[in-house]
Amino acid sequence: MSEKFSNLIDGRWVDAGSGKTLKSLNPANTDEVVGVVPASGKKDIDRAVKAAQDAFEGWRLMPAPKRGEILFRAAELIKNNKEELGRLVTREMGKVLPEGLGDVQEAIDMAYYMAGEGRRLSGETVPSELPDKDCKSVRVPVGVFALITPWNFPTAIPAWKLFPALISGNTVVFKPSSYTPVAATRLVGLLVEAGVPPGVVNLVHGTGDETGEYLATHPGVKGVSFTGSTAVGEKLAKVCGALDKEISCEMGGKNPIIVMDDARLDLAVEGALWGGFGTTGQRCTAASRLIVHEKVYDRFLEIFINAAKKLRLGDGLLKTTDVGPVINDSQLRKVLNYIEIGKKEGARLVLGGNRREDGDLKKGYFIEPTIFSEVAAEMRIAKEEIFGPVVSVIRAADLKDAIGIANGVDYGLSASIYTRDVNCSAEAERDLDAGIVYINAPTIGAEIQLPFGGTKKSGLGRKEAGGRGGALDMFTKWKVVYRDFSGRLQKAQIDKD
Ligand code: NAD
Repeated sequence: MSEKFSNLIDGRWVDAGSGKTLKSLNPANTDEVVGVVPASGKKDIDRAVKAAQDAFEGWRLMPAPKRGEILFRAAELIKNNKEELGRLVTREMGKVLPEGLGDVQEAIDMAYYMAGEGRRLSGETVPSELPDKDCKSVRVPVGVFALITPWNFPTAIPAWKLFPALISGNTVVFKPSSYTPVAATRLVGLLVEAGVPPGVVNLVHGTGDETGEYLATHPGVKGVSFTGSTAVGEKLAKVCGALDKEISCEMGGKNPIIVMDDARLDLAVEGALWGGFGTTGQRCTAASRLIVHEKVYDRFLEIFINAAKKLRLGDGLLKTTDVGPVINDSQLRKVLNYIEIGKKEGARLVLGGNRREDGDLKKGYFIEPTIFSEVAAEMRIAKEEIFGPVVSVIRAADLKDAIGIANGVDYGLSASIYTRDVNCSAEAERDLDAGIVYINAPTIGAEIQLPFGGTKKSGLGRKEAGGRGGALDMFTKWKVVYRDFSGRLQKAQIDKD
């Protein structure tokens, strides 16, 4: 019997009204059902939105430091359960256990960080041009937020949305990916244990086109925070924009690492391996393009291929595994199809390229770490998001050429350069068109205390995470307050002595 999990509506764990369910499978072994969750319909979502609307007033009026105390308790609970949650992330999503634990650590970091924001949430106080009058700006919550998340960070991405939404005073209806619903349910369970009042956090499981779209466009929802593919994000942005909803979308990427001729090649190779094949290439910030200076191209490629050959495929729970499975059958087929496209486009397949079904791999979705060399910047494999363990190595004549290639795609999430020349790094920092730039580090590794998000088709609307311009701007609106305590009518811009 597989374990059953429920929706959370108004503080109660409930099944879908229809009784329909969905199964969550372990991508390393699809015989293992990680859990069974409700397939929610319109009535379930109506109830969840109503509960969030009803809870809004009480939550909005709770002092933010008190909301912060609840988040602090949630941080402690997640920390105390880190090992179990990390293993669950690995079983449900496939990433290797150290990364599963890292996924949970991001949630812990974000919970502590946003708990602290409860004592800040600062605005501005400025002098008035008139006597006996004060002026300030304050952050106010938006209302009911729909949070829609993908499967590749089953704990971190929900936490990136839940904690800033809650500290800001919003109530939420959260729909996680139907491929990683159990990890999401465990996270929400810990929030309940931490003392979040009924109705403040509601969880509805279901698929994107049925549950997700109805939730995002629901009249009771004031704001939508979405992370997922560009196709879905752009569609939602159009529909929600027309409905006057706040919407922010974090979407796809095609992130480049530039390797200059003066770079430390050992470091660049290590970064390219982690950036390209970490999380089986299934990160929005995965380094799927390596743009290498022609003077070091051949040497870099040789070292990179030799290092990638040593990566071992397998179940992410095993210590011997470096690269886990891809998430599901459709992702498997999509990645294999891109490998065929790469071959047809004339790129040279220099490593991998196959599905592996031998021995212990036969019950999972495993694809070999794959490298294409002699990739031209205009090929589809160099421009489109593949979201799997496939890396394209592109030749560049100089820095200008490399930056041109890096910027010549529709995405702009993260970008990196390996160089020891300070002028080169400064130019790259200035000219790379991406939301995040790394110097001498791969395209992955964002920390939670600064904003996260991309340009072009990688991001629409406000950014995520902390710092100025981060998630608090997504989850609050500015209100400006003028208070006149002069006891007479004073007219700004008109009363002059
Ligand atoms: P997806 O777009 O298929 O699904 C994301 C979420 O949206 C899921 O919960 C899904 O059920 C829901 N959804 C799907 N169709 C919907 C619709 N019509 N209306 C409302 N909701 C809908 O993406 P995915 O396959 O889960 O995730 C992979 C994608 O996410 C990649 O493109 C990756 O780059 C992107 N991603 C981006 C970031 C970022 O921060 N930029 C982070 C992680 C993943």
